[in-house]
Amino acid sequence: MSFSKLGLSEPILKAIADLEYATPSEIQKQAIPVVLSGRDLIAAAQTGTGKTASFALPLLEMLNTDRKLRGKRIRALILTPTRELAVQVESSISQYAEYLNLSSMAMYGGVDSAPHKQRLIWGIDILVATPGRLLDMAHQRALHFDELEMLVLDEADRMLDMGFIDDINKIIERLPKQRQNLLFSATISDDVRSLAKRAIHNPVEISIAPSRASKPKIDQWLITIDKGNKSALLSHLINDLQWQQALIFIETKHGAAKLVSQLEKRGIEAESIHGGRTQAVREQILSDFKTGKIKFLVATGIAARGLDIGDLARVVNYDLPAQADEYIHRIGRTGRAGASGEAVSFVSKDNFRELCAIESRLGHVIARKEIEGFPVKKGVPVSILNYVPKIKRS
Ligand code: AMP
Repeated sequence: MSFSKLGLSEPILKAIADLEYATPSEIQKQAIPVVLSGRDLIAAAQTGTGKTASFALPLLEMLNTDRKLRGKRIRALILTPTRELAVQVESSISQYAEYLNLSSMAMYGGVDSAPHKQRLIWGIDILVATPGRLLDMAHQRALHFDELEMLVLDEADRMLDMGFIDDINKIIERLPKQRQNLLFSATISDDVRSLAKRAIHNPVEISIAPSRASKPKIDQWLITIDKGNKSALLSHLINDLQWQQALIFIETKHGAAKLVSQLEKRGIEAESIHGGRTQAVREQILSDFKTGKIKFLVATGIAARGLDIGDLARVVNYDLPAQADEYIHRIGRTGRAGASGEAVSFVSKDNFRELCAIESRLGHVIARKEIEGFPVKKGVPVSILNYVPKIKRS
C-alpha cells in the first residue's frame, strides 16, 4: 500500500516523499482514513510506530482550507506531556507542512513566555503545547479557543502519570463543544478511559501492538534480604556489578536522606528527591541525573510521580511499593524503545504481602538471585499467584 491511497493530497504526499517514507506504517494505515472521515479516535500505540504522522498528516489535510485565521486563535491543539515531545511533534508537523500554508508552534513551560505570546498575536494554525503553559496563556488571554477545530491528546497515559489531569480538564472545559478529538496512548488504562469518556465522543478505537523490536525487554529479578542489610547490599551491587546508573525507589523521605549518606560513606555519590525538596530543585537534580552528572538517584515514589524520567537502564525497588500498579509503573521506566532494562527488587520477610500482589499482577513469579556474602536469616516464602489482598492499603 502507498500513501497516495490514503486520501492525502499532493503537497502532503510530496513532503512525505521528501522524507523518504515509502509505505505507511500500520497505525498510519488505520488512523489516517478515520481522521479524514471526521470521526473521533482513540489509538493505543507507542512511540516508534509512526503515530505522530498518523495524526499529523490527516490533521494537516483537514486544516488545509482557505479559512482565515484571526489573531490569538488556534485551529488545532496538540497536548503533549513534555517539552521534548512538544518540540519533536512540532518539528515533524513543520516538515509535513513544508508545501502547505499552515503555521505551527511548540509552546512549553520553563522558558520565557514572551516570544510565544508574541507569535500568538497573529494566530497559529497548529499549536503543540504542554498543559501547564497552555492554561497559563489562556488565563492571560494570550489565546482563545473559539475557533478550535481539532484536539489531539498525545501520550495521554504519560500526561496522567505526570499529574496533568486537572489542567487537561480545565483546558477541555474551555474548548468549543463541536470539535474533532484524537487520543493516543501507549496503554489504555482505566484513567485514560475515564479521560476519553469526558473528552471524546463515539470514537473509533484502534490498537497497534508494539513491534517486536520496540517491545520493552525488562529483566526483572529480586534478592531476598534482611531489612538491616539493604544499604550494604546496594553498595555491593553498585560496585560488584559496576552499575553506571540507577533510579532507586524508597518509601520515606527520611529513608532517602539516610540511604544517600550511607552510600556516600561507602564512596558512592548519590542524590535524593523527595517531597521535602522544591519542584525546582527536583527538576535540577533530575536534569543532572539524565545527563549522567548524578549516577545514583534515590527517590520516594511520590516525588518521582510528577517528573519526566525518561528511559533508564535500571530501577531498584529498595523498598517494594505497597501497590502492584506502582511496581508496574516503576519498572516501565526502563527498557523503553527497544533498549533493554533491568528492575531489581529488594524483598524482606515483611514484604511478603506486597510481593504476592505484584507477582499475581504479573502472572508469574520474579526470578530470585542469591548474592554471596548476604545470607538471609528471615527467608521469604515463594508467593501464591492468585493472591487477593484482603486489606486495602493506601
Ligand atoms: P513516531 O512513532 O511518531 O515517534 O515515529 C517514529 C519515527 O518513524 C520518526 O522518526 C518518523 O519520522 C518515522 N516514520 C513515521 N512514519 C514513517 C513511515 N511511514 N516510513 C518511514 N518512517 C516513518
